[in-house]
Amino acid sequence: MSLDKGFFSLVGPTLTGQGECVAMIADDPKYYVAKGVVPATTDPFSPLIDLIEWLNVKDGHSGSKSARLSAKPIYYIGWDLGGHESAMARQNNWTVEKLPNKKSSEKDIESLGMRLHKEQAVRENIPARAVSDTLARFKISQLAPAPSIMPTDQLQKLYMLCAFSIAAKKAQDRGRVTAILTSAAGEILSYGIKSHENSILHAEVTAIQSLFVNDPDRASRLKTDQTYLFTTLKPCGMCAGMIAACGSGKIHVVYGQDDFGEGASNTCLDAKPSMHHKLVQDLKLKDAKQSMLLEELDSFRQRYPGGPIVQRLDDQSPKELMQAAHGRTLYKVNKYALTQEESEKKRVMAHLESFLRMTEVISA
Ligand SMILES: [Zn+2]
Repeated sequence: MSLDKGFFSLVGPTLTGQGECVAMIADDPKYYVAKGVVPATTDPFSPLIDLIEWLNVKDGHSGSKSARLSAKPIYYIGWDLGGHESAMARQNNWTVEKLPNKKSSEKDIESLGMRLHKEQAVRENIPARAVSDTLARFKISQLAPAPSIMPTDQLQKLYMLCAFSIAAKKAQDRGRVTAILTSAAGEILSYGIKSHENSILHAEVTAIQSLFVNDPDRASRLKTDQTYLFTTLKPCGMCAGMIAACGSGKIHVVYGQDDFGEGASNTCLDAKPSMHHKLVQDLKLKDAKQSMLLEELDSFRQRYPGGPIVQRLDDQSPKELMQAAHGRTLYKVNKYALTQEESEKKRVMAHLESFLRMTEVISA
């Protein structure tokens, strides 16, 4: 007999104290347990999220545990899943099943003891916020003062250009999307780049979770304060779920490109057009490479409707395309650094410049 639903129904209730909950999965004869307090519906972490993220951490040459265990169900006890938790499980093909949290009887304890002994079951506890180390790398520091602006369409383009610039410089592999979270006054609060090491850590998930790890005070205000999330690609269902849950409808999403793939159509954000829309106008690159860039963009959109620019980075030409976007960012940085006249754009670019230096997208 292996560690099945009957086993988890016995062991689960013994692992939850008052106000606690667990998520569990079998890896016979081991079983992994993520445990914590019952999460709020606005929390970007929960035992289920901890477990799924942890299962996707690559270990050495053997890949992640998720590839090996993906056919196994995840059992959980003690809380009702939020929409973002369900979306994360569904999009990553995990079956999840809630078990009843009943008080263990003497007979239950006895049968559990027998099964633990017979199947030599060994528990391994998963750390809470299992990917904190990775998220800590996205800590924000030493930025120029916040520009104190309302991001108009024109100013939104500067943030988006900055996001594409980070994607251009940090994308050594395909599919890297970049997201930047700002306050309503244009201050960068956090950011994320799609991970190639952990398939759960999309740019938007990373931007939100890293704020909770690196700046909990600001994170606690996501529910009450208006913020902006600039992301180079339309958020998928998993990211949309996290944005909606953790931002309580206060995160205004602006994205650079459509994504008509299955994972990004009909997300929970699509019902909120005023809070979720494509950048109003394409980024115009008014340098020598502008026409080339716009042609590339057009032909790309026809061939791969909605696909992300960054997925084409394997080819030489898209590299040039992204370099052109980055070149435009540098041009803007220099232009506004030299401008004497005080303006909103100048303040925004000074803030973005300090961010691009912090992320080593531009060097000192
Ligand atoms: Zn996503």
